[in-house]
Amino acid sequence: MAPLPKSKRSTARKGRSLVSKMRSFSKLVKCENCGKNKLPHKACKYCNK
Ligand SMILES: [Zn+2]
Repeated sequence: MAPLPKSKRSTARKGRSLVSKMRSFSKLVKCENCGKNKLPHKACKYCNK
């Protein structure tokens, strides 16, 4: 049996969590090699490092 959640999540709360997830995903970091903006934990598309 899988553990049941203590309370049902409201749609507003669900949307908020999704927004925060999207926000964290769209956050860009500077490439250490070439200084261009790139996605964190992804290879730089300019220098592939
Ligand atoms: Zn780079």
